[in-house]
Amino acid sequence: MLDEHERTLAFAEVALGQIKSLRQTAIPRNYEIWYVYATGYNSPLNKIINETLTRNGKLTEADLEQIYETYLSQIKTTDRIDKVGARVIGEIDDVMTLITDALAVSASYEESLSGATEKLSSAKNRDQLKPIIELLLRSTREMRETNKALEDRLQLSKTEISNLQQSLDAIRAESLTDPLTGLGNRKYFDRSIERAVENALATGEPLSLLMFDIDHFKSFNDSYGHLTGDQVLRLVGMSLKQTIKGQDITARYGGEEFAVVLPNTALRQALTVADHIRRAIMAKELKKKSTGEILGRVTISVGVSILKPGDDTDSLIERADACLYAAKRNGRNRVICEVDPEYVADARNQVA
Ligand code: GH3
Ligand code: MG
Ligand code: MG
Repeated sequence: MLDEHERTLAFAEVALGQIKSLRQTAIPRNYEIWYVYATGYNSPLNKIINETLTRNGKLTEADLEQIYETYLSQIKTTDRIDKVGARVIGEIDDVMTLITDALAVSASYEESLSGATEKLSSAKNRDQLKPIIELLLRSTREMRETNKALEDRLQLSKTEISNLQQSLDAIRAESLTDPLTGLGNRKYFDRSIERAVENALATGEPLSLLMFDIDHFKSFNDSYGHLTGDQVLRLVGMSLKQTIKGQDITARYGGEEFAVVLPNTALRQALTVADHIRRAIMAKELKKKSTGEILGRVTISVGVSILKPGDDTDSLIERADACLYAAKRNGRNRVICEVDPEYVADARNQVA
């Protein structure tokens, strides 16, 4: 496998290659854009660059600036939304001015037409007709030019507004994404589970929830450091993405806790999925990137609940959480659901 030095140099070469072949300035901003592009870590950025290149064959300074602002700069989301909003308003103002001007031209054209109609009816001969027709031709040409300009500007505006729309979509997606793992964040989870529960209650389809937590993660952090701990969280996120497909909703619920909502999934299947995830994570041998030191493995404990009549989001989460707690108390590295005797015993313990 390539080491970090070789890997990053390869990205750097791709980045510089792009800057050269597209004849862009090699300023840090452009380098950063192309470096991230080369890594492929930021798929919305790659998508917008590929689309723009396909459409226009190049990236202008304005394109690069907008791409940087939207996909890379660390400016606060609200500021970015304000900025995009201001540009939409600016765009609308420009178009309104243009339409007002066009309406004025149109009104004066209207006047010329009705003036000409009168003059035409009183014209006696060729010589009297000629200036009237010339006037008509002139104002018609003017009207046509105005319309053409308006049409061109509206076309431009349409493109601009659809770019801004894409910026907003990217900002929105980012605000629902956990930057460390790339999974949905807590806000995303809250919204998605609410919707999924509503839907399941309305259709009568089953719905299961998995909540899991890494075992003894504190001591892992203490032994190997927080940054290595972060790498483990990333790996857990990746394992989760690889195991979970389709309509299932995955999210980082909190620090080292994750949640998976399984729409249209009964308890038995949910337990299978849960065990899949547990095994997938346990199967990964952890290695410190910088030194190659083998760090062993991490395990997870999983709680599984299933939606019942009369449930709401909170009660569903509470039961999954209680099952997770039971899994911890009963030795960790296991899956516990509401029908397991450990869960019942544990619930009694809590009451006692
Ligand atoms: P248990 O098996 O009972 O879950 O033990 P635990 O040590 O995992 O549980 P505890 O809740 O005591 O500790 C959770 C630890 O997770 C605390 C903190 O060190 C670690 N942690 C939480 N969020 C992050 C994070 O974003 N990055 C890293 N590296 N560690 C985190
Ligand atoms: Mg925890
Ligand atoms: Mg833990």
